[in-house]
Amino acid sequence: MGRFVLNIREMDEGISEYLFDISPEWFGHELEGCEGINAGQEPGAVDLFATKHGREVLIQGRVRASVEITCVRCLRPFQKNIGAEVDVLMLPGNPATNDQHEDEDDLGVERYRGDHIHLDELIRDSLVLEIPMNPNCGDDCPGWDYLEAELKQ
Ligand SMILES: [Zn+2]
Repeated sequence: MGRFVLNIREMDEGISEYLFDISPEWFGHELEGCEGINAGQEPGAVDLFATKHGREVLIQGRVRASVEITCVRCLRPFQKNIGAEVDVLMLPGNPATNDQHEDEDDLGVERYRGDHIHLDELIRDSLVLEIPMNPNCGDDCPGWDYLEAELKQ
């Protein structure tokens, strides 16, 4: 059972808002296997609107969280806030087809089974895509000077 689950039976027709906290523990667990990337200390948040028409649910909103990554210039770890838009249409069906390359993939369509829409993977993937490939700790990055000074000590 995932952490972020919408029960379609408890959902009213029309628009409902869902707010969740993203704990660093959850995000850290989801980031296992992403080398050099850890969850930041700041808790994140999920703010979604679900628009339900029968069994079809359009899910739109934002997710944000913080990560601890390593600067490519000074090689020091630093925290960075990341955020992503979520826009996906959930249809009843076999979730296994979500991984297949169908035309509907491009349109942000996913399948759910039963009465529960599991959002853990969607939230994780949305966030992971926003983690910079070549992170730079910021304008005041000491750059290579810092590394050189460290090596001389
Ligand atoms: Zn740096």
